[in-house]
Amino acid sequence: MYVTVWNEYRHERGDSLKDIYPDGMHAVIAKALRDDGLEVGTAVLDEPEHGLTQEVLDKTDVLFWWGHGAHEEVRDDVVQRVYDRVMAGMGLVVLHSGHASKIFRKLMGTNSDTLKWRETGDKEILWNCNPGHPIARGIGDKIILEHEETYGEHFIIPEPDETVFISWFTGGEVFRSGICYRRGKGKIFYFRPGHESFGTYHNPQVQQVLKNAARWAYTPPTEPVHYGWFASVLDEKEAK
Ligand code: ZN
Repeated sequence: MYVTVWNEYRHERGDSLKDIYPDGMHAVIAKALRDDGLEVGTAVLDEPEHGLTQEVLDKTDVLFWWGHGAHEEVRDDVVQRVYDRVMAGMGLVVLHSGHASKIFRKLMGTNSDTLKWRETGDKEILWNCNPGHPIARGIGDKIILEHEETYGEHFIIPEPDETVFISWFTGGEVFRSGICYRRGKGKIFYFRPGHESFGTYHNPQVQQVLKNAARWAYTPPTEPVHYGWFASVLDEKEAK
């Protein structure tokens, strides 16, 4: 299976994140997935067609998506292209502030961006509320992140098909932080942690979730649907 990690890649080009993500968050995520035996490419916003040409998407089985400040710069035709691939079976793993991306909003059918947030470095505990789920494999009871951005409900999303993690923050907020959907033939996982300034993607448990999510979101190529009988009926009708 082939994974593409897409990143907006704007924050990390400033000086403040040089020590945490010198080559961008996508590089850290891609390395973790490669170390797990997956074939991985990367793409960023400022490449032509945001690095998501039809050719790249056609070979991509699972796409990871990190975006924050430049959601509106993502071209609508590229969003449509990603959407069509999800319908056809490509997996999508949406990370952190990707909840407000065009592609996530289109797939959810909500604006999904009215949640509460504070950037105060609270502790986050992601409770594993679905220990039998493939995405929770190897995680145990919980993931503790000493410092993260806080998100709080209400997260305006359709009721998830499955919930894997629920987060608690020291401010008392809670958040559905690991959730699964199916759209068309494609599987979608949203995973909340990953604010750019906290180095979260270096955390081994977070990396384990990403590895698990890549494999969970993979749908093997399926036979094209055969409309042979129906098409022949239509042909006959048209012939008359
Ligand atoms: Zn953030």
